Amino acid sequence: MQLYKDQTLRIHNSLTGKKDVFEPINEGHVGMYVCGPTVYSNVHLGNCRTFMSFDMIFRYFKHLGYKVRYVRNITDAGHLENDADEGEDKIAKKAKLEQIEPMEVVQRYTVDFHNTLQQFNLLPPSIEPTATGHIIEQIEIIKEILEKGLAYEANGSVYFDVIKFNENHDYGKLSGRKLEDMITNTRELTAQDEKRNPQDFALWKKAEPQHIMRWPSPWGDGFPGWHLECTAMSTKYLGENFDIHGGGMDLKFPHHECEIAQAEASTGKSPVNYWMHANMLTLNGRKMSKSTDNNIYPAEIFSGNNNILSKPYTPAVVRFFMMQAHYTSILDLSDDALQASEKGYNRLMEALDNVDKLKTSGKSDFDVKAWQQKCYEAMNDDFNTPILIAQLFEAVKHINLIKEDNETISAEDKDLLASSLKAFVYDVLGIENQSLTKDDSNTLNGVMELLIDIRNEARAKKDFATSDKIRDQLVELGIQIKDGKDGTTFSVN
Ligand code: AMP
Ligand code: ZN
Repeated sequence: MQLYKDQTLRIHNSLTGKKDVFEPINEGHVGMYVCGPTVYSNVHLGNCRTFMSFDMIFRYFKHLGYKVRYVRNITDAGHLENDADEGEDKIAKKAKLEQIEPMEVVQRYTVDFHNTLQQFNLLPPSIEPTATGHIIEQIEIIKEILEKGLAYEANGSVYFDVIKFNENHDYGKLSGRKLEDMITNTRELTAQDEKRNPQDFALWKKAEPQHIMRWPSPWGDGFPGWHLECTAMSTKYLGENFDIHGGGMDLKFPHHECEIAQAEASTGKSPVNYWMHANMLTLNGRKMSKSTDNNIYPAEIFSGNNNILSKPYTPAVVRFFMMQAHYTSILDLSDDALQASEKGYNRLMEALDNVDKLKTSGKSDFDVKAWQQKCYEAMNDDFNTPILIAQLFEAVKHINLIKEDNETISAEDKDLLASSLKAFVYDVLGIENQSLTKDDSNTLNGVMELLIDIRNEARAKKDFATSDKIRDQLVELGIQIKDGKDGTTFSVN
């Protein structure tokens, strides 16, 4: 269905600072690139929020009938500590620390990333390219920028000449920074610096003898600068000019600003029509981040094994919690907020269970068509999921009234209500119905009683190998058992 033909979608474009009407380059098609993770450690919930926001956006485009090519990369080289041009490669540093190969680090955390996103019901992107798989493409772009005279080589490294670029382009247009201010606010170059100006950034870095992640290039052995991989991979898979580029707000500068500079310098074209930035998840009012240790990992939330929350929460509840905020707003994680989301989620799932069973009559008290249009209006207004969810609860209210015979609905309206509600909840918001049916929960209780008995018998016989095995394997399945004064209980995450 080509629903997009009836809908005008507006997107907050960081480049223009306005909500722009979405007009794709090729009718019916969307090309979207989102910066992926640097796979040197497990993803925390903050990282997940950004990927979830773009998953919802991907899902809505698909729902509207667009053919979407969604490219989300894996950064497996070139991202140095402190996001600057100095310091160790984050992956190489971890490899040294754990005494394993850098590619073992990459493999381990890529698998964790995929498993985590799958738990949150994210759809896989269309292409998931890696930085190390595109070294040749990155070298080609550097050669083009050098040919245009907008980069220079120094001692086996190549730097982008920001001052020269700014003579005919606008460096800072995405982040709203002015190069003159940046120059005033930055430190002087020291004698050891290879850069001509402190604002210049690395396209290629010479590898010192101890640097393990290295590739041959026309400038000697080295590795690409962090910003370059995204220019290389987005251009390769989406073209020199494509529809949407996304990432977390913290990537706007310098990462995305540098991507624009690299692309404009090499092709002469503006690479992206709509720049989209997702806002941060905070904890205790501060940005969730790996470096400050102010974070929580999804597995800690699902198991309840953390010092922040009073109980475990399911991935679907956490996703619902995320969707209750607009993707451009800051969202703070707290136990109260998650508990409220859990209540809301349960009400919504109950309504989804009930909607198909509603009795119908000759007329409807609920204008389902008008309601459906309001849902689209919310999503068409820069993917406003909190307003959409408010509309979904409007539907829940009517479902409950109809169920209690206080309102009526026609057969045709009931079908439209059921199909739209399911489409918005399951397909667009990506929220799964993880609530157990009564039959399921009776079976689960029976099986758990049996397992707890076997475990207690094993413990009585001091067969701790068996009792620990039961407990550990249940934890892997997301079931926690707790031994208390009144016996053993269990909870499902
Ligand atoms: P990284 O692996 O550090 O490159 O980050 C991967 C993605 O997570 C990027 O798009 C970041 O902008 C995003 N990100 C990092 N911290 C947070 C946070 N606290 N909330 C939301 N997104 C975040
Ligand atoms: Zn990127």
